[in-house]
Amino acid sequence: HAQRLQGIESTIFATMSALAVRTGAVNLGQGFPDEDGPTSVIAQAESAMRAGRNQYPPGHGTPELLDAVIAHQRGCYGLELDRSQVVATTGATEAIAAAVLGLVDPGDEVVMLEPYYDSYDAVVQLAGGVRRGVTLRAPEYRLDVDVLAAAITSRTKLILLNTPHNPTGTVLTREELEAVARVAIEHDLVVVSDEVYEHLTFDDAAHLPIATLPGMFERTVTISSVGKTFSLTGWKVGWASGPAELVTAVEAAKNWLTYTSGSAFQPATAYALTHELDFPRRLAGELQAKRDRLCAGLATLDVDVHVPQGTYFVVTDVARYGWEDSLAFCRALPERAGVVAVPCQGFYDDAAEGAHKVRWTFCKKNEVIDEALQRLAEAD
Ligand code: PMP
Ligand code: GLN
Repeated sequence: HAQRLQGIESTIFATMSALAVRTGAVNLGQGFPDEDGPTSVIAQAESAMRAGRNQYPPGHGTPELLDAVIAHQRGCYGLELDRSQVVATTGATEAIAAAVLGLVDPGDEVVMLEPYYDSYDAVVQLAGGVRRGVTLRAPEYRLDVDVLAAAITSRTKLILLNTPHNPTGTVLTREELEAVARVAIEHDLVVVSDEVYEHLTFDDAAHLPIATLPGMFERTVTISSVGKTFSLTGWKVGWASGPAELVTAVEAAKNWLTYTSGSAFQPATAYALTHELDFPRRLAGELQAKRDRLCAGLATLDVDVHVPQGTYFVVTDVARYGWEDSLAFCRALPERAGVVAVPCQGFYDDAAEGAHKVRWTFCKKNEVIDEALQRLAEAD
């Protein structure tokens, strides 16, 4: 294969899900819920197909979806957008890829929170960019603003932000976001903000888009998607919003990736954003209870558990469980315990920080979580 694919030949999520299927293990690896989102939304997709929405939709996005995203950003965050400031994508994954490909030249540096979501690292490499990690360190996984500031060089082009953060569950506070904003403004950087878990926050944590801070809208591409908010991860409808010139760059790259997708899923997603926002509110409450269930169970197993404020993942440190290497731990776990989890070491450049970190998802039925915990407790 081409040089540009060196080291990014596969995604760890596919590898671990395949391992779960092969071994019959309980899959707490890849983050997808085992219960589908609202039936009313699924019915909208079905009727859109029956009504003939089966050919290419406009590359920019169907008008219903653009308008629903505009109304969502206004209603939830007070952000004012017009249709030129939103583009529909094939999931957040394509929005991230198109933002990086559309904004990063070879040799440009991209600062990202570490542990990073695996696609960030991959698309920066595909674009010929250089990754600079800013580590959210255990046990609290907060952003160290001095480390962020020190990561900026004359080659830095953009900051790729993710809040609520996968895998740590950190929800960046207003103060942390203000610090990111100061750095971005001082160095005239673009921020690409991946907010796919925007509605999945717990306790008193609340999501705040960095685009709402003074001076930030004009330099921020905000990304989200239907998958996590509405438990419809296979639909792959996403969107990016921001000032027209940045959105145009994202769309220019997207034109040569998929150009367009999701003809019937786009109007159904518009319906979800308009009529079903109670769903993620309810989901977040259910997930909070599942978080507590999984964290309590894991805590009895002699691993260090970090309770997340958002997303549907828990990161643990398995060093005390007798393992030095999270990849080896996760490869052995199906045999040893009949459970699959995701090793985080590939999400870190800081090898010492990443070596023992393992991620578990709790977007599963209670009986599935309980079964996994029981198997882990019975394993040696
Ligand atoms: N960003 C993060 C942080 C994610 O966890 C995921 C997985 N939902 C994505 C992006 C990809 O989203 P999508 O499925 O909409 O492509
Ligand atoms: N976002 C999900 C996760 O983090 C799914 C990842 C994927 O399938 N690429 O597990």
